[in-house]
Amino acid sequence: MPLYQDQELKIYNSLSSKKEIFKPINEGCVGMYVCGPTVYSNVHLGNVRTFMSFDMIFRYLKHLGYKVRYVRNITDAGHLENDADEGEDKITKKARLEQIEPMEVVQRYTVDFHNILDILNFLPPSIEPTATGHIIEQIELIKNIIGKGFAYEVDGSVYFDVHKFNTSYDYGKLSKRKLDDLIHNTRTLDGQSDKKNPQDFALWKKAEPQHIMRWPSPWGDGFPGWHLECTAMSTKYLGETFDIHGGGMDLKFPHHECEIAQNEAAVGKSPVNYWMHANMLELNGQRMSKTTGNTINPNELLSGNNDKMSKAYSPNAIRFFMAQSSYRSVLDLTDDGLKASEKGLNKLLEAIAIIDKLITSKTSEGFDISTWRQRCYDAMNDDFNSPILIAELFNAVKYINQIKDGTAHISAEDLKLLSLTFNAFIFDILGLKKEASTTEDNTHKLNSTIEILIKLRAEARANKDFALSDQIRDELLAIGIQLKDGKDGTLFSTN
Ligand SMILES: [Zn+2]
Repeated sequence: MPLYQDQELKIYNSLSSKKEIFKPINEGCVGMYVCGPTVYSNVHLGNVRTFMSFDMIFRYLKHLGYKVRYVRNITDAGHLENDADEGEDKITKKARLEQIEPMEVVQRYTVDFHNILDILNFLPPSIEPTATGHIIEQIELIKNIIGKGFAYEVDGSVYFDVHKFNTSYDYGKLSKRKLDDLIHNTRTLDGQSDKKNPQDFALWKKAEPQHIMRWPSPWGDGFPGWHLECTAMSTKYLGETFDIHGGGMDLKFPHHECEIAQNEAAVGKSPVNYWMHANMLELNGQRMSKTTGNTINPNELLSGNNDKMSKAYSPNAIRFFMAQSSYRSVLDLTDDGLKASEKGLNKLLEAIAIIDKLITSKTSEGFDISTWRQRCYDAMNDDFNSPILIAELFNAVKYINQIKDGTAHISAEDLKLLSLTFNAFIFDILGLKKEASTTEDNTHKLNSTIEILIKLRAEARANKDFALSDQIRDELLAIGIQLKDGKDGTLFSTN
């Protein structure tokens, strides 16, 4: 029997602003769409946090036994500067500045994105479609929306008629905005735009002669509007209505609001049952921003090559740090926070290393494993509350150490369940890697290894095997480890 039948998962739905019991459209199957990156620069650490939250959600749904189709797109065209309908295409601009083809920009930053996610132990999505690979689907969708009367063409561009849409549907229901307020808060048009109303958004933009990324369409050469690709691709791979749509908080308006409008205009149905939004990542208590210099990219964080952190942090430490906060809370990235996570992580990994070597007793004493196991599930079932889960894992660490010290006992059967559960949550669901992860941990192991060699060398000398003792000293020196004999024994230095 799949686990999901035993576990009642609740998801905070941004649409209703409530936690709701999760019920997929098709029993045992989940369709999940997450807005992917626009590949015009190195992936932003804030976006990594968002994708990591959905990686954990994907992992938990799979762990529960669901067959999950997880679609995360790559935006490689149509995303204009400032997320508005005006300005240059972000990828075209980068290509112009670097004097390379737009598709070279796309390739470079798609590779960077995949590399970073790979280092951080992400599972690949089931499908990773691109906007440029779905131009035909987007054109068909525009034709459909025009046919339903919710879009209009002006001089080679097509716009979504928000005002007309709002007479039959509710524009703003996700972001809790009212069209009247939007009208009130928008500057009047400066005469440069073809739109009937400033709230309308582009489905198709006419390409000026110098615009490189262009495709033929019934309205002339142009390119799709940014919001359109997600509707076209989610419909194609997950259907007109699917289970979960995720993304960063900043995408709620206008991007996701426009996705809802496009879908409702085209097929008369709301596209998504559960909208999920991951919160922001801050750096040292402030919003990350390139202009203020308060920023750090994933490579800098991993290499230690930055002026914000005292050292490099391992992928495991970064993952663990991010999991220590709920995906719906603002997370503040700090050196102290990362150091504390690294320490906590080492405790967990130490417990993992000894768990299967524990001596069992006839009965368990000091801890109820089945209740604890269910509390771990309860934490994740409560809208993927990973910090509570981690607190439960530390309760188990305490128990594991007590068994090791002989102050608590565990039966063989309970130990099996403890080990299985502990491993599943740490590796399969939180997505931590099995290998020793932190630089601190590796340094500790290296030091212990050198101590072993020093002991062997001392034994060789005591046995008057000077050939061996010199060999140990010389070979260590050759790799940069110097042994210094003194009256308190042998010390070493590394350089
Ligand atoms: Zn999207």
